[in-house]
Amino acid sequence: MYFIANWKMFGDTNSLNSLNKVIKFIKLFKKKRLIKIIYCPPNTLIDLVSKKLKNTNIEVGSQNCHEKDDYGPYTGSVNCSMLKNVGAKYVIIGHSEVRQSGESNELINKKIQTAIKSGLKVIFCIGETIQQKRKKLTKKVLSKQIKLGLNKIKNKKTIIIAYEPVWSIGTGIIPKPLDLLKTINFLKKKLKNNKILYGGSVNSKNINQLKLIYNLDGYLIGGASQDPKKFIDIIKKTYN
Ligand code: PEP
Repeated sequence: MYFIANWKMFGDTNSLNSLNKVIKFIKLFKKKRLIKIIYCPPNTLIDLVSKKLKNTNIEVGSQNCHEKDDYGPYTGSVNCSMLKNVGAKYVIIGHSEVRQSGESNELINKKIQTAIKSGLKVIFCIGETIQQKRKKLTKKVLSKQIKLGLNKIKNKKTIIIAYEPVWSIGTGIIPKPLDLLKTINFLKKKLKNNKILYGGSVNSKNINQLKLIYNLDGYLIGGASQDPKKFIDIIKKTYN
């Protein structure tokens, strides 16, 4: 099971201390071989977090990347080589908070191609808005995001898919169990070789309900991942 921590635009050098609890927990956790933890802090902390997690089996990723892997006059941007250079092994691409600022499916596709070429593993986020859900367009929207996002990508199976309904991110609302089960089944049929995660308001309470969705391969966790106690609780309860 994957437990991916997305710190979003939170965290500074003091936040590194919060990793101590998680490192200690994992060392003693009996099911540690069954889980893969990936921290995606802001780019400013990737180097420090990677160093901190060096002798653990916890890995590090970025929350975004530039679509080109060369160097050049792209003010404010960071390419995949730069991310790898400071210890990132993964990159989140297509997060709805980035899509909202104008990132298209075509741009996402370019980023995914570049990330794979550079050797980063991709965590590809897809999900419908509340309006699309109300119009019963979920499957159609997901199919389009997958088709365009993964266009011409050969080695698809290394891509981790995170199904994140936009209306669920940061709202405390999670999908109804049957709806989620059906959507994950739909994605599993479409993407037979990919790990499929759920993301959107996962916390230490609703994990008891989410873990019943038998075909999930893990969770992408935003808000709750910034608090080590909550993050550890989610992992523990997944196996209780
Ligand atoms: C996310 O950032 O991908 C996310 C799912 O956030 P949250 O858990 O806070 O809803």
